[in-house]
Amino acid sequence: MRILVVEDEEKTAAYLRKGLTENGFVVDVCSQGEDGLHLARTSGYDLIILDVMLPERDGWSILTELRQTGQQTPVLYLTARDAVQDRVKGLELGADDYLVKPFAFSELLARIRTILRRGPARQSDLVTVADLEIDLARHRANRGNQRLDLTPKEFLLLSLLARRKGEVLTRTLIAEQVWDMNFDSNTNVVDVHVRRLRLKVDDPFEKKLIHTVRGVGYVLEERP
Ligand code: CA
Repeated sequence: MRILVVEDEEKTAAYLRKGLTENGFVVDVCSQGEDGLHLARTSGYDLIILDVMLPERDGWSILTELRQTGQQTPVLYLTARDAVQDRVKGLELGADDYLVKPFAFSELLARIRTILRRGPARQSDLVTVADLEIDLARHRANRGNQRLDLTPKEFLLLSLLARRKGEVLTRTLIAEQVWDMNFDSNTNVVDVHVRRLRLKVDDPFEKKLIHTVRGVGYVLEERP
């Protein structure tokens, strides 16, 4: 499950990132309203945690824009002010829930789980790209009728590419999400693992699905 946190307060953002990651979520953090809106629209999150007071573009405007363009990703907003009109406003604009700062992490987690449970139909656990089938829930991948024998890391890497199929993922992003580390200076690790993954996913087959985007990173997609 992927969560976008739009929060400009560094401490809160770091706290959210840490707590949510520890609870098994994949978390992206963004500190500016404009970037937040862009990510929210383009990156297919399961939930967005949205601060109200943000630089450039506030949470209300982000929420309004998302709902106006038909984006139904659940939104939980964080507000520093426990004002009745604030709460009403958020819900009217189409937020799913809100929390007043400061909040207990356990409370946030409970709200998130409730929203995700009732949220819009969950995305399928099955991702397909051409004849490659990745079952995210069962940790299995097949190509054609062949089961792919992947290590846990290889599966994690493949499932990241699969969840975001068609999207070019940078080496840094891959390193962060698969290894939970910053490999800025050593993205070679990513290349090595992609090569190993290709040995199993692509090499035995005619149609290649993992593509290198020179100077940027990798993308999983079917190309003509
Ligand atoms: Ca703020």
